[in-house]
Amino acid sequence: MTFFVGDSCLALRGVTMKPDSDLQAGKMLKAAKLYCTECRVAILKVLMKTDKPLSQDQIARRLGKKHFDKVTIYRTLESLLKVGLVHKAFMDKRACHFELAHNCTESQCHPHFTCTNCGSTHCLTEMSLPMAKSPHKGFVIHRQQVRLEGLCPACA
Ligand SMILES: [Zn+2]
Ligand SMILES: [Zn+2]
Repeated sequence: MTFFVGDSCLALRGVTMKPDSDLQAGKMLKAAKLYCTECRVAILKVLMKTDKPLSQDQIARRLGKKHFDKVTIYRTLESLLKVGLVHKAFMDKRACHFELAHNCTESQCHPHFTCTNCGSTHCLTEMSLPMAKSPHKGFVIHRQQVRLEGLCPACA
């Protein structure tokens, strides 16, 4: 069940000047028909500020002084995933890494490049690959996510 709340959710706390990122997060939640909670806004803001996918632990650390427990963060990410605001970009060291879905199309997420030397991962948002064709009868491809490996500019 989702609740539809208007712009009012951000005005409730009585602060007149809100940073743009708060407004942007509020608009995204509104468009996704998601109730505007403090944790959802905070996580969207963390993901807006980064240029690479983050694991739940990294997100928790970046939430800083805002203390949300693990379960709250997990459930919040699940709700953002469900409406498509956030995507699981890849798994690394058994941890799912999340990012905003705004650089993805309906059929594919942008590719990710991981450096085999330094381990850094980069979003290749300007790169679009041809969609893979279904290998056999009976397989239906819904989304394509590609991960590339090699050396980043700093290590090449
Ligand atoms: Zn590197
Ligand atoms: Zn990415």
